[in-house]
Amino acid sequence: MSRSTDLIHHAYLPPAEFEAPQVGVFKASTVIFPNVAAMRTREWMDKSAYTYGLHGTPTTFTLEERLATLEGGKHCILAPSGLAAIAHVDFALLKTGDEVLIPDNAYAPNKSLAEGELAQFGITHQVYDPLDVNDLAARITPRTRLVWLEAAGSVTMEFPDLVALVQLCKARGVLCALDNTWGAGLAFNAFDLTPGHGEVGVDLTIHALTKYPSGGGDVLMGSIVTRSDELARVLKLSHMRLGTGVGPNDAEMVLRSLASMPLRYKAQDMAARTLAACCTSQTAFSQVLHPALTSSPGHEHWQQLCVTSQEPEGLAAGIFSVVIDARFPAHQVDAFCDSLKLFKIGYSWGGPMSLVMPYNLGTSRTRSTAHMKCGRVVRFCIGLEDVNDLQRDIAQALHAGGLLP
Ligand SMILES: *Cc1c(COP(=O)(O)O)cnc(C)c1O
Repeated sequence: MSRSTDLIHHAYLPPAEFEAPQVGVFKASTVIFPNVAAMRTREWMDKSAYTYGLHGTPTTFTLEERLATLEGGKHCILAPSGLAAIAHVDFALLKTGDEVLIPDNAYAPNKSLAEGELAQFGITHQVYDPLDVNDLAARITPRTRLVWLEAAGSVTMEFPDLVALVQLCKARGVLCALDNTWGAGLAFNAFDLTPGHGEVGVDLTIHALTKYPSGGGDVLMGSIVTRSDELARVLKLSHMRLGTGVGPNDAEMVLRSLASMPLRYKAQDMAARTLAACCTSQTAFSQVLHPALTSSPGHEHWQQLCVTSQEPEGLAAGIFSVVIDARFPAHQVDAFCDSLKLFKIGYSWGGPMSLVMPYNLGTSRTRSTAHMKCGRVVRFCIGLEDVNDLQRDIAQALHAGGLLP
């Protein structure tokens, strides 16, 4: 045998009884079948066998199983990003003539996808007011196939009456999908919203693993979780056709971080609440948007869902926004953000470094935002720094930006 052939067929046996706690990185496009009969009979739709790298490896199957458990679902499919998970759900479930309903405070690219590719495919969308169950009810028609939900909403953090919205979708026979990035499978159980009082749950969740599950600000990944065998089948078929797999190195990074996620989530939650409470006493901030604050829109719904006997303080993601008093012009809001030293200007959240981002809602919202004070919105994503340092940073930036009385 030639050296090149020998190199490829060099004997290799995976280490037996190598029981390390951490899952290995299994890399493959090709998976070898012992014979043609095995190739023909191996099932690629479920996790009973390996067929091709794109359809799963021990590394990705393990991550999928852990995420399904985390979120209280049964099946999980990984996607290359949180947005790819949203797109996968849309492409798998919607066809020409269908309509999808999206909350006004949804993760903005969810709406952009509907305005772009979905419109091109003849799929229409409507934007509903997440704080008004009647508004959603009025928009559901026989063409409505899917309702997106988000709790809390992006940037403005309104917490919807998720139980009522889900019950409405069930009553009207419409599928509902929750962007579960904020709750991360920890703050509430999306598939069992009213434990002990009958099963009220969403049909499927997507999760930007880029945020808390990764926790490092260095991986992009998403997941789709469902309890339904039928939905899992439809999503898996689309997965086969769309070919959106994830790399095993990235999957292993998420597996590594997943174990510490509940601790990180709580630490960032506590720090965010401390800072949000401090912000309420700053006159430059006319409103502080954090669902655990009684003054925040939808606080009672957050309380209903996220405060439990196991978590009497409730759980919330380490993220909140402030409305800068309308007397300050845009350039001063920018100056405030620029003056922050520890909070870096950047998208995403859930990593060790605190981030800040100013938003101009005028360009992104279509429904009434009467529940909000006028002014520009600045979002803070809390990292793992010492909370006192972060508090001092906000104070010095208010001073440097000229936002103090
Ligand atoms: C970040 C985010 C996404 C998208 O995740 P990516 O991995 O960045 O594509 C989706 N939904 C919410 C709520 C997010 O915060």
